[in-house]
Amino acid sequence: MRVRWNGGELTFRLDPEDEITGRAADDHPVKLATNSCEIRGVPGDAHDDLWAVAAWTIVAPWTRRRITFDRPVSPELARALHDGWGVEAGPVGGTARAAGRRLAISYSGGADSVAAATIFPDAPFVHFRRVSHRRVPNRWPHYRSDVLAKLAVQTGREVTTVESDLEFTLAEPRPGYPEHHAVAAGALLLADEMDLGGLAFGYELGSRWLGGDRYLLRYTPDNLMWAPHGAWGRLFAAAGVHIVLPVGGVSEAVTMRIALESPLKEQVRWCLRGTGGPCRTCGKCLYKELIQAAVERRPMETPITASRPVARKWQEPPPYGGQEMIEYGCARVPGIERTPFAKAAQYLRATEESTAWLDHCYRPAIDEIPGVWRGQVAEFMATRVGFMDEAQTRRVETWGTETWGTER
Ligand SMILES: [Zn+2]
Repeated sequence: MRVRWNGGELTFRLDPEDEITGRAADDHPVKLATNSCEIRGVPGDAHDDLWAVAAWTIVAPWTRRRITFDRPVSPELARALHDGWGVEAGPVGGTARAAGRRLAISYSGGADSVAAATIFPDAPFVHFRRVSHRRVPNRWPHYRSDVLAKLAVQTGREVTTVESDLEFTLAEPRPGYPEHHAVAAGALLLADEMDLGGLAFGYELGSRWLGGDRYLLRYTPDNLMWAPHGAWGRLFAAAGVHIVLPVGGVSEAVTMRIALESPLKEQVRWCLRGTGGPCRTCGKCLYKELIQAAVERRPMETPITASRPVARKWQEPPPYGGQEMIEYGCARVPGIERTPFAKAAQYLRATEESTAWLDHCYRPAIDEIPGVWRGQVAEFMATRVGFMDEAQTRRVETWGTETWGTER
């Protein structure tokens, strides 16, 4: 892979061994659409290693053995690429960037992100906003990134919105981040200007420790994407921007509660369809409504019925992506038998007691936060959430081994 920056415009050329269909860190296959993209409004004089890491968040899935940058990378950064991906990076030269002093929040407007922001009330936001690519037709006009950007400004925080078309480098499965970390490409390039030593993401317990989402269902202490000692954690640290997960020890039930109790609650938005509020009809709205209803101890309010395509997976037996939260919701929502989750509830047979661990904080998540920011998170969790006891901790550390095997 060869990459070149011209201002904020990135172009890259595949080497013979590279492939058009690559794999992201979560093992998801991603097909390349076009070999250029732009990140607007970033300074021209960022540290060389920051340009390299920003580029890597975009080109990593399609790079096999080597990457040639248009400016030198420090020996430390080259080593992180080698150790993490087996990739030879060059040219090598210069010195590594020292970590800055500030923490910024990579702000998406979702409940997890708002919860992370609530723990650090003085931290500035960097918000990624999707814009159209000049050569790739936008077949996803319902995705209203303008609404989120407006809401971010309404929080009253110091907000830097970075506009980019980088998601259109992806043809399949759909436009999106080539790697989850590409959301940080703009923040990385702003790190010198903003004096950043850390970037906080809203990834919660499920994403960090339970394998996350739809890919894995097992305890993942060595999570490649989000553990500080994982490939991405070490790469960001080598560029002096530590990955920080303020809500990495708590479930989506806790982040939802924190977000709904937060001064930022009016700006929480997890659905990108529609302009006046969540659409209530997409799969994400259905999942989030289950969690919110559980947290608020009320029946679900949804127009979606079990026969609708977005509800189909909940009619099948487990395992499910985000299964811990399905268990939590099924155990707590009154009248669950009259919702699209009725079948899932029968399969899972979860109880309030069996899901009580999801109301507390997993302590090892605090230990891996860099020292300068650890105390503030620990204090918040101690006073607002409370920590898991030994038995609850064991639920995290045996996740995926109990009832549905580890093969999925
Ligand atoms: Zn929706």
